[in-house]
Amino acid sequence: MFTIRRLTFIVIIFLLSYASLPAFSTYAVEPEKKPAAQLFDERMQLYESMSLLTNMRWQWIAAIDQYERTMSKARPKARPKLGEDVGIYIEEHQWVGTLNPDSNDQHPNSIQWFDGIGKDGNSDNIVSRNDDSDLLYSVLHAVSATGTSDEALSIGLWNYYENSRAVQRIQQFEQIYSQYNKLDLFEHAFPLPLRSVYSYRDTWGAGRGWGGKRIHEGTDLFAGYGVNVKSTCYGIVEIKGWNRYGGWRIGIRDLNNHYHYYAHLQGFSKDLAIGQVVSPGEVIGWVGSSGYGKPGTSGKFPPHLHYGIYTDRGYIEWAFDPYPNLKRWENEERKRLRP
Ligand SMILES: [Zn+2]
Repeated sequence: MFTIRRLTFIVIIFLLSYASLPAFSTYAVEPEKKPAAQLFDERMQLYESMSLLTNMRWQWIAAIDQYERTMSKARPKARPKLGEDVGIYIEEHQWVGTLNPDSNDQHPNSIQWFDGIGKDGNSDNIVSRNDDSDLLYSVLHAVSATGTSDEALSIGLWNYYENSRAVQRIQQFEQIYSQYNKLDLFEHAFPLPLRSVYSYRDTWGAGRGWGGKRIHEGTDLFAGYGVNVKSTCYGIVEIKGWNRYGGWRIGIRDLNNHYHYYAHLQGFSKDLAIGQVVSPGEVIGWVGSSGYGKPGTSGKFPPHLHYGIYTDRGYIEWAFDPYPNLKRWENEERKRLRP
């Protein structure tokens, strides 16, 4: 008994100490997570050096990289990480050229010969699909083939992505970056004033209380008529107007490529226009009960803000449960307000 107990004790100690050690394999591969400020500084340095190299404004470069990053986040299996920080993904055969017999070719001349996209962005004479500068420069070189003016880049982006959604997203991101001239634009706010009277529950996927049998994609925040509705993010107004179900509604796109949907509004903030850039906490409209009928129909249900978030996966969008985010933003804002 004694020895077994002792043996068990030793085994437990061994397991505990082993578990507390960093796993060597992952420790060696995964670099320590950098603080956000440092990450944004390093990114900006890369964008500025690429701007000098390509004659493109850094806001375009940031927008392309960020768009690609959101695609990789949405489809990590189809788009494994290639570089250290940049979000760019390029298929191997595109990188070296479709007819190139060497799929790991890193020679600038032969890649160019086989019409591959891969370019040397850091002048080390190696075209590496795992180097941030090479990855980014290769895409920038391709999209700026028709020129570097805003108009020419829209054409270049279309030629490269052959997807109008991709072009629209990158244009939207470029406008957000141009408005604030910084990369650090991921702060959030709660959509209602914390001092107002409101209530909300997690009703993800539940049937709608009104308006038929469609699955409820969002969170209903109940509040009185006319309570301010605020943008939860830095973003750009993508849609504003009447929808049969949503009533007066606003759709705002952020830099995570999330589409924030605010429905059943009583009205919109006076000077809010499609294409306008907004910041977290900015008032965009007021709580109402519009919807489920012709433009102007309202009062078919109690006043509330229907809030939904959709993520863009390239060609389609998925709704995800906004409730955990709302809880987090509410708590963060409460902490900020506390003296
Ligand atoms: Zn709802």
